[in-house]
This record gives sequence, structure tokens and C-alpha cells, in this order.
Amino acid sequence: MSATARPEIVVDLAAVRHNLRTIDALVGDDVATMAVVKADAYGHGALEVARAAREAGTPWLGVATVPEALALREAGDVGRLLCWLVLPGEDLTAAVAADVDVTAATTAHLDLLARAVEASGRPARVQLKVDTGLSRSGSTAEAWPALVAAARAGELEGRWRVTGVWSHLAAAEEPEHPANTQQAAAFHAALAVVEEAGLRPEVRHLANSAAALLHPDLRLDLVRIGLATYGLDPAPDVAHGTDLRPAMTVTAPLTMVKQVPEGTSVSYGWRWSAPAPTTLGLVPVGYADGLPRAAAGNDRPGPAGAPAEVEVGGRRRPLRGTVCMDQVVVELGPAGTEVGAAVGDVVRLVGPAPAPSAQEWAQACGTISYEIVTRLGGRLVRRHVDSEEGA
Ligand SMILES: *Cc1c(COP(=O)(O)O)cnc(C)c1O
Repeated sequence: MSATARPEIVVDLAAVRHNLRTIDALVGDDVATMAVVKADAYGHGALEVARAAREAGTPWLGVATVPEALALREAGDVGRLLCWLVLPGEDLTAAVAADVDVTAATTAHLDLLARAVEASGRPARVQLKVDTGLSRSGSTAEAWPALVAAARAGELEGRWRVTGVWSHLAAAEEPEHPANTQQAAAFHAALAVVEEAGLRPEVRHLANSAAALLHPDLRLDLVRIGLATYGLDPAPDVAHGTDLRPAMTVTAPLTMVKQVPEGTSVSYGWRWSAPAPTTLGLVPVGYADGLPRAAAGNDRPGPAGAPAEVEVGGRRRPLRGTVCMDQVVVELGPAGTEVGAAVGDVVRLVGPAPAPSAQEWAQACGTISYEIVTRLGGRLVRRHVDSEEGA
């Protein structure tokens, strides 16, 4: 091993392009794609992922907040860009000036936009959001006709153009869930109000990654692709055969390897003891870096669940004992089995096979892969690579 190998997150931008092109081909020419790069691109680096998405021909980017949108503009992105989380009283001038599509779910949001239009001296791009059953953001069905009417009035006055109408699904990863058909029906009813008012939005959209893969009838004009952009499966319990490549690999060097006798207890609380002589390895990544403490399977009273695993030299090795703030112990193999791991060897914590997937970590922790990748960070150094560079 040459230079010191720091614990790091390596993101392959070729995988991002592959995933977006795969979905673009799947949904066909009549459906536009949006790469959702909120939350620093689910922990993958928003600016780099945004650039890769544009290289892959993705016409839309999506983020939650106005600052996330402005950061992309400051980095030079000039394509279509939607944001959907407006704070009370937020100044939207910069967003309007930067040609960001801003989501309005209430007439108060339209009022903020009207102020921003006056301040920036240019018309806004507005997308209206209706709540069809997630009961999160979005106009209620009751308030919808008034919101649509106000939006239409502002459009006729030249304040803005209503570029989109959209909603968000509650259970797209469960194909048989009644929410899917109910929300689709509610959305079509909301669209009828929009048509009736004389609005002609460029895009009507409902689908996240899971809906884009599993529900062709819900793709409409555009699909908002978050998790699948990163090569993670939004519907791990449903077979769909879409070829997604995980973009993120988390690696660290083994910092210590030691033989211990039977009965040796490991880490805080002595929650695991070696049933036989074995070899332990120390990995310098902990919960301060986003490795969930729950991944050891022993953070709750009662019988321990199966711990998460890491990969060393092509083989899976289980976490042992409690995950610490800065490090975690793995079992490299009971004595007698061939260990073959030494200080400095590369440990893959998350990544494409044979490394454990973010989904496997999620299973060990009772969560979803979204939470695993978005929380990885801390002292991990993020590096972007392109496995197809020069290819
Ligand atoms: C995060 C988000 C998405 C992306 O969801 P995925 O399941 O990651 O594809 C799409 N739309 C909205 C409104 C979101 O907040």
C-alpha cells in the first residue's frame, strides 16, 4: 500500500450517467427525466452529479430548497431546474432572477413570487403543487381551484408562466398499494381544474424513481429520479429488471488486526463476545461519519439482529460489538479459517458487489437505503471518478 489511504467516499460519475440514460431509454421519448440532486445528491455531491446528469442529456434537475438551486446556478448550471421547499416569508428574488422553477402550494407562495418578480424585474417560472394523498406539502383539493385561479390571473398579468403542475406519491414502491390509483385519480381531477382555468403547463408530473420503474401509467410528462440516479433500488422488494449501477463506494484501510482468545468481549457495553478464538480488524469509520449505530444489530435491548457486513479482499466480514463514534470492529474470521487480511488492506463498507449495498445496510438497521447514503459523510473524504473516462 503506497500513500496513506484515507477513509473515503468514491463516486463514479459514469454510473450516474448510465443510470439516467437507462431510465431515459425505459420511459421513452415522450417522457422527460429530472435528476433529483437534493441533499447534496443523496450524499454523492450535487455539483458533480448535476454535471454528469447534464452530460447524460437529462433536461431537468430537481432540488428541495432555494439555496440548493442557487448553488447549482453559481456552479454554472443553466438548464431547467425545479425547487419545491419554500420557507415562510422567503425571499425568492434570486431564484426568479436565476430562472429557477419555484413550486407554489399556496397563494402565500404566489405572493412571495409576485414580490420577487417585482424585485428582479423579470417574470417567474411557477409550478403548482397539489396534495393528492401524501398529506405533506401541496395544495389541498379544497384550496386548489383558488390557487389555480390566482396562478392563472398572475400569468395573464405577465408576472409568471405556470410551467408545471405536480404531486408526489406515498407508496409507489408498493405496486398494489391503493394510494397509487387514488392519487392518480386525484391528480387527474386537479389537472382538469388546471385545463378549465386555461393554463397549459409544459410538464405534469407525479412519478419518483419507483413510479418511473414500476408504473408506466404514472410517468405522464416527466419523471423525478432521485434514488435510481445513484444506482440504488427504490423498490427492493419488487422484481423489475432495470439495470442500475451503484455510484457510491465507501472504503477505509484496516488500521489494526489482532488475534483474540475465546470469550473476548468487544467494544462499548461488551455486547458481543467471541464464541471461539478469532481475528478482529479495526475500521476507522464510525457513527460520526454516518455509519448507523443500529448497524451492529445490538443497540437495543433484547436479542441482537444480524449485523451489517463489510468486504475485505472479496469476502464479507460482520461488524462485531457496538459501532463507535470514530471506528468499528469487524470479525475477520475465526482462527483456523484463512484470514489473509493485514493492516492497510482496503475495507469496502458500501458499494457495488461484492461489497455490501446501501440496501443491505438499510436492512441491518431497519431503515431505507436513502437514509444510509444521505447520512454518510463526517470525516469521509469524497472523491469523484469516471470509470469511462477516455473509454
Ligand atoms: C426526493 C424527491 C423525489 C425523488 O424520489 P426518489 O424516490 O428518490 O426517486 C421526487 N420528488 C420529490 C418531490 C422529492 O422530494
